[in-house]
Amino acid sequence: MTGTPDCRMHYNRNAITVSDMDSSNDSQQYLYSGLIRLHILHHASKEPIFGLGMIEELARHGYRLSPGTLYPIMHGLEKKGLLRSKEQRVGGKIRRVYSATPSGRKALDSAKERVRELFGELFED
Ligand SMILES: [Zn+2]
Repeated sequence: MTGTPDCRMHYNRNAITVSDMDSSNDSQQYLYSGLIRLHILHHASKEPIFGLGMIEELARHGYRLSPGTLYPIMHGLEKKGLLRSKEQRVGGKIRRVYSATPSGRKALDSAKERVRELFGELFED
């Protein structure tokens, strides 16, 4: 064991750490939080999702979120009526699964139009 703090042990400079208190990531979290919400909404519109699965999916895209960061985001989306959740028994465990509501799908559709427009501007030369 060394004196390395826990929060440094898993640090990967190629990944975006959304949850850590490192202040250099504050502006990244600020910029990417909407993208993360859209990403969650996108997957929840395709199939039911659950927290840990979504953490893995976001990690695949380079966003590192802890459960303590992701769950409040999912609860927020549910509170806004964009997601709904129910408990599901998987093996011996109870898991909360989320899916997009009709208004979540509608919100996603209009967000996609805006993303498409932004994408066009960001990559036009
Ligand atoms: Zn994805």
